[in-house]
Amino acid sequence: FADRDGVIWFDGELVPWRDARVHVLTHTLHYGMGVFEGVRAYETDQGASVFRLQDHTRRLFRSAKIMNMPMPFSAEELNEAQRLVVRENNLKQAYLRPMAFYGSEGMGLRAEGLNTHVIVASWEWPSYMSPESLEQGIKVNTSSYTRHHVNISMCKAKANGNYINSMLALQEAVRNGCDEALLLDPEGYVAEGSGENFFIVSDGTIYTPELTSCLDGITRDTVIELARECGYRVVEKRITRDEVYIADEAFFTGTAAEVLPISSLDGRSIGSGHRGLITGRLQNLYFDVVQGRSAAHRGWLSTVSEA
Ligand code: PMP
Repeated sequence: FADRDGVIWFDGELVPWRDARVHVLTHTLHYGMGVFEGVRAYETDQGASVFRLQDHTRRLFRSAKIMNMPMPFSAEELNEAQRLVVRENNLKQAYLRPMAFYGSEGMGLRAEGLNTHVIVASWEWPSYMSPESLEQGIKVNTSSYTRHHVNISMCKAKANGNYINSMLALQEAVRNGCDEALLLDPEGYVAEGSGENFFIVSDGTIYTPELTSCLDGITRDTVIELARECGYRVVEKRITRDEVYIADEAFFTGTAAEVLPISSLDGRSIGSGHRGLITGRLQNLYFDVVQGRSAAHRGWLSTVSEA
């Protein structure tokens, strides 16, 4: 992935993709304390437009605050950097990866004398799962790995090290012949997927776990708002594993995964075993909004063009 054309924004400069390198003693590489974002830009009638750019950048700054990492750039500078990398790489639709990490200025857990470095990379990443899975839904298993306790990892931070848990869970799911994992919190209630928030639909009401031990997902927030605008009741509450087995519909949300139907959990079909009606409706609304086809919520789109 390092050997390709293009540019990466690195500490305020655009550098050739192949030259965006760090030293092996990069602090974050050793201890995992860093923060990042996953953002998408979509092709719209205004050209490539970043979806909820300011909200992603705000979450990046909040993650840095939780981790006590000084940020050497302003939110405005990082918003501009994100628009710039999409534009400079001539991308029509793109995934963006801003990340703040500690450099190789020193070692040790005190993390003293370190500088925060920031990159923004961007590339084409059309579909997180197979394109069919957006229609057919995916197979999910309940993970044997527990999601972070709120006082072990800071769940509101999108921090690099938190993703060890996600990767263990996802790799286990794939080994089990599934596409994704559903992780439970330390008390056994549903938390989230390895990189997605989680929803169920039961008797016409939409339920999603409270934010306690899941990331405050921007897609989650978007889908809740779109669902309420359609008149659906959306309830944030603790959800148990057996409630999911008997739900009518279930789906994941995330910037990468978008709105992704779940066909089964632990070998039990959810509802009809296909994308549910409400899931399908929310998925269409989501794609209309992010691709600028909806008159509403144009304010969530930031065009990357210069004017
Ligand atoms: N939970 C986790 C653990 C994630 O990594 C992500 C992806 N950022 C999400 C939820 C969904 O968040 P968002 O909708 O902001 O992408």
